[in-house]
Amino acid sequence: MIKYKLFCKDCDLEFDSWFASSNEYERLKKKELLACHKCNSLKVEKTIMAPRLINSKSKIDEKINLEKYNKVKKTIIDYQRFIKDNFKYVGDNFTYEARSIHYNNKKKSKGIYGRASKEDLKELKEEGIDAQMIPWIDENEN
Ligand SMILES: [Zn+2]
Repeated sequence: MIKYKLFCKDCDLEFDSWFASSNEYERLKKKELLACHKCNSLKVEKTIMAPRLINSKSKIDEKINLEKYNKVKKTIIDYQRFIKDNFKYVGDNFTYEARSIHYNNKKKSKGIYGRASKEDLKELKEEGIDAQMIPWIDENEN
């Protein structure tokens, strides 16, 4: 429900009216179903929206979610930096490289990171190869 303050251009009466939505207001107005309570004039206009209808709670929730997201994002980016510093990027060759490390017993090789699908990861796991999926954020994206 939405409350509008309506104003009659003919008799200057101001009155409040409730509508299911702003679209309903437009619809009633178009059909000339909006009339002044006092003089029945159709020259009724919407003035400002009553301030109590501004829903600030959802704005606060949005802000909290954004803060949470930013915190998580920072953790992920820190984690990414650690991985970038300590692991070798192999891009789309991840599953291939992971297998060659596993099967060829490639000694003291750095850990690797790269892209793989969920199916690839599942297969690796079945072969006893340890791989973790982590969320990845492009640092350039803001
Ligand atoms: Zn009027």
